Formats: sequence, C-alpha cells, structure tokens
Amino acid sequence: MKKISILGSTGSIGQSTLSIVEKFPDRFKVVALAAGNNVELLEKQVRQFGPTVVAVAGEQSAARLRTACSDLHVRVFSGVEGMIQVAAADEAEMTVSAIVGTAGLVPTMAAIQAGKHIALANKEVLVTAGELVMAEARARKINLYPVDSEHSAIFQCLHGSDGDVRRLILTASGGPFRALSKKDLAKVTLAQALKHPNWSMGRKITIDSATLMNKGLEVIEARWLFNIPQDKIKVLVHPQSIIHSMVEYRDGAVVAQLGMPDMKGPIAYALSYPERLADVSPALDLAQVGTLTFEEPDTDRFPCLAYAFDALNAGGTMPAVVSAANEVAVKYFLDQKIGYGHISRVIKSAMDAHRPSPVHTVEDALKADLWARQEAEKTITNGM
Ligand code: NDP
Repeated sequence: MKKISILGSTGSIGQSTLSIVEKFPDRFKVVALAAGNNVELLEKQVRQFGPTVVAVAGEQSAARLRTACSDLHVRVFSGVEGMIQVAAADEAEMTVSAIVGTAGLVPTMAAIQAGKHIALANKEVLVTAGELVMAEARARKINLYPVDSEHSAIFQCLHGSDGDVRRLILTASGGPFRALSKKDLAKVTLAQALKHPNWSMGRKITIDSATLMNKGLEVIEARWLFNIPQDKIKVLVHPQSIIHSMVEYRDGAVVAQLGMPDMKGPIAYALSYPERLADVSPALDLAQVGTLTFEEPDTDRFPCLAYAFDALNAGGTMPAVVSAANEVAVKYFLDQKIGYGHISRVIKSAMDAHRPSPVHTVEDALKADLWARQEAEKTITNGM
C-alpha cells in the first residue's frame, strides 16, 4: 500500500489520479490533499478518500472547509505553508505534484526536501528552477517520475540506456490551430482555443497547447528531467497523439511509446513504477487509427516554441521569465482581455527586457518570476 499526497487534487490531473486510487484501493492510500479554492469538490474528496491533512490556497476557503468537515478527523491548512504541510505530510511516501503554474514550485521542493518521491505533472516546476530541483533530488536520492505523457513515454523508452541516446523526439499534436494560416490565427477565439483535438485538460495547459508554448515548456522540462542538452531535443508534430514520444539511439534505432491519448496511463505508471497496473488506459487499435502522420513544427506561426529554446540557450533565470510571462498572458487571454496573438508578444517583450542571472536558490527563481509577471502586466496595460 503506497501512501500518497496530492497537490492540485481538484484539477484535471488530480481528479484522474484519484480515479486511479479509487480503482486500486489495495495499492494506494491518500494521506493528504491540496487544492486552490474549489472547497466543494475538495470536501467531497476528503469524505471519499479520508486524508488526515488538507490545504487550500486562501484562508477564507480554509475556514469554509473547516466548517464543512467539522465532523471529520482532518486538519485544514491554507496558503503556501498549507501546501508545504500537504507536500511533506509525514505519512506520505510519494507526492503528486499537480498544481498548475509556479505555485507548485515551493511545495514540490518541500516534498523533495522531506524525502518524498515525486510524480511530476507540474512542468512549470522544472521550467522555473529545473537545475536546482534536480540537484536537490539527486542529493537526497529522490526519484522524479514523469506524469506528462511525452516525458513518461521517454522514460519508458529509455530504460537505463541514457548513454547511447542521440536525440529525444517529443511529439506534439499541433493543437487546434495546427492547420491555420497566420491571417486566420489572428482571428481565433477563446472558445476555439479551449477545444483541444485530442486531450481533455485544465484550461491553462489547453491554451498552452494552442500556442505550442506547452511543447516549449516540455522541451525545458525534458532538458532537466533527462539531463540532456537542448540541441539533442527535437519536436515533431504528430496530430493523432498516438506516439507519445520517442528516443533515437546512437545506432539509429528509434524506440517509441504508443497508446491512446489518455492521462491515466502515465499517471498510473508514475504511481506504480516499476510495476504496470492492469487495464488503466483504453486499448489501442492501430488498424482502427489507420494512419499516423508527422510534420515539422512551424515556429513562424507558433513562435512560443522557439522562445523556449531561446530561453534555454540564454540560461539562468530566462526560462522562469518565459514561464511567468506566459502564465500572466494566458490568464488575460482566458479572461478575454487580450487576443490569442498577444500571448506570444507578451512573452517576447518580457524576454527582450530581461538580463538573465544564475538561479542558485528557489528565491532567485521566484524573484525572476515576480519580475516577469510585473513586466507582462506592464506590457498588457500599456496596450502592447
Ligand atoms: P487544472 O487547472 O485542471 O488544475 C490545477 C490544480 O491546481 C487545481 O487543483 C487547482 O485548484 C490547483 N491550484 C491552482 N492554483 C493553486 C494555488 N495557488 N495553490 C494551490 N493549488 C492551486 O490543471 P491540470 O490538472 O490540467 O494541470 C496541472 C499541471 O499538470 C500543470 O502544470 C500542467 O501543465 C500539468 N499537466 C497537465 C496535463 C493534463 O492532462 N491536464 C498533462 C500534462 C501535464 P482549484 O481548482 O481548487 O482552484
């Protein structure tokens, strides 16, 4: 019985994780849960899964949850301190990191420092402070198991052969606007951007997929997770999302991992590695799928992907700046205050204004993150 703590339990990944726990009650026990402010859903989860520690982002939400759960033996915390309590809960062996955005960084680092293995969904953690987080994990002999489907695929294709790798090939669906011209891209709406062709996910990552920023963040995540230089990471557009990613070895062999686009597979593998749980994902029928196609990504129409490589080349705080400026721009786009085309411009403008410095501490990364948020807000309020 593996005891787990889940950060972001009310989100898309959090709920899928709990559905795996529900399906395998003899394998996993939930000991701690954390969410943003969805108190209603969190209360239901507390009643169903019986954690002893929970946390929410705001103190008002915490007060509501305390009242709602007053008949239960559960301690309710709030804020960053609360997230840390959940991330590092005494009983937990593994922490699922599935908060969205930089808010996941401090709790994930706290979990590593408390000796918990990590099932990592939150890619912004490694984008913002990848070198630091991986060094901490190595020093404490903590394993980070990827939840992102592409990284899970690479993890599955690698299996101890890291030294022989020529390239990692990250596949990308291309998102809902893959086939649109630059002219048509200027007219897309929020509703269209929220309709991902293959995956059902949270709102932020769905927009990131529509700009290809998601793939850019994944490139940075892969750089640190697999300790591989960026010039050995290739992105390949594969609209069917059946091949989740590939590893090309030095002898020319390419190993791919295939499956239906369903996050339960990678989540379950991260939770149960090295074992595979039975009947987690829908079966793949390749005859039914019929055709798998591939194309080069177009960074002229989707510049965010190029910005991620630029950020890695610039190094230091630049990836943190890209991630934070993107978070702000996506929030404004979701609130329908800026258009789709503005997202990449806000990111570029923050990058142009930033002089990267080394990330020695989490505070260094958070300082750059805060600077980029203010810069992005400034760009947006000045009308770009
Ligand atoms: P969602 O938006 O669906 O869920 C986000 C979760 O984070 C919610 O539980 C939310 O709580 C919580 N949250 C938000 N802000 C805070 C905060 N300040 N403090 C504490 N909790 C907070 O996102 P996803 O599940 O889609 O994605 C989560 C992460 O996993 C992202 O980094 C994403 O890139 C990554 N990922 C997601 C995939 C997917 O298929 N969804 C695939 C691969 C990676 P509440 O709702 O209660 O406010």
